[in-house]
Amino acid sequence: MDGKAQILQQPLIKIPPTFFNLYFIFVSLPKKNHTHHPLLQEKRFALSLIDWYQQGHRALPWRATHDPYKIWLAEIILQQTRVVQGMPYYNAFITQYPTLHDLAAASETEVLRTWQGLGYYSRARNLHTCARLIVDKQEGVFPNDYKGLLQLPGIGPYTAAAIASIAFREAVPVVDGNVLRVLARIFGITSPINSSQGKAVIQEIAQQLISIPTPDVYNQAIMEFGAVQCTPQKPACDTCIFHADCIAYQTQQVEILPKKDAKVKIKKRYFHYLVLQLGDKLLMKKRPKGDIWQGLYDFYLVEADKPYAAKQLSDELLTLVHQHQLEIVKYPWEAKHILTHRVIYASFFHISLPTTFMEVVAPLLQQYAMEAVTMEAIQSLPKSVLICKFLNAHM
Ligand code: SF4
Repeated sequence: MDGKAQILQQPLIKIPPTFFNLYFIFVSLPKKNHTHHPLLQEKRFALSLIDWYQQGHRALPWRATHDPYKIWLAEIILQQTRVVQGMPYYNAFITQYPTLHDLAAASETEVLRTWQGLGYYSRARNLHTCARLIVDKQEGVFPNDYKGLLQLPGIGPYTAAAIASIAFREAVPVVDGNVLRVLARIFGITSPINSSQGKAVIQEIAQQLISIPTPDVYNQAIMEFGAVQCTPQKPACDTCIFHADCIAYQTQQVEILPKKDAKVKIKKRYFHYLVLQLGDKLLMKKRPKGDIWQGLYDFYLVEADKPYAAKQLSDELLTLVHQHQLEIVKYPWEAKHILTHRVIYASFFHISLPTTFMEVVAPLLQQYAMEAVTMEAIQSLPKSVLICKFLNAHM
């Protein structure tokens, strides 16, 4: 009988919210309240959670495999992304790049194009870099443990733990936002979950919880539990198998746990795009390293400290445009584009470039590596959602 079968035979132990439980919870709250929590005894938490998971969970393609490539792909796609949004991208990647070798053989532009619309494009670039590195340096074979996986680009502790546990059954806990929330609530962790202290306490609990023979099932179960039961808003406490022991529930702290330190200040940026037209082509450029949307294509960009009209903007190209009295037409379309720590306010200006003018601006355009691209070719270039929305509205 293997470990999984043994776990399935374990009865689900349900303890009602007795006086003893509540007493235990309250007397232990001010101290290190998690260390003797009833759910830590005899692996009750892990066994109950796995039982809950095996009674019915969402059928997701990356749950039915031990292939590290597919698990890795899914975990990278699902970072900061909901399952319903990530699923078509996962399917597209598996169809276009069925193996790690196929992904490594693709160009970065192709990979970014497949990723288009999912945001956080550094994930796609790292995915590609990592695939090439494994193929070139490790004969196309993923490292088979947590420490080895952590050495790869774009693979942090969470992703390394997911691959190591699900593909290789190493007992390392995944600790993402879902898991932090679930454990903070159940074990009554009041330190902010984005503080080093809060993270350390939860990591310690998580490591203790996963010492069972099926860490692969356990990790998937806790991710599922955070996604469908103990959700950020309106968790389903009434039907929760842990509500008798959940400190947040028993002490009416579900609304306030987990706690978080104040958020990072949101930065506002003001983008003024010059849509330069040359005959039936538009001039576009690849975004440089060190800023958002690296490797994606956009138009000539003038960034300023607030929104300006074209004639108020200070820019070398615009100075030449004014000197040659070329017409600048502002598109009746402005966008507010929200990213994690930034809000982009974008406006767009159309300028048709006569060939005579091209001689004047050619050195400047070369400096920015602007390329004249047909509308058809633009479709296959990787672009940000902002640029796609603009093109859909106006081209
Ligand atoms: S009782 Fe509510 S807060 Fe506690 S684990 Fe269950 S769903 Fe989450």
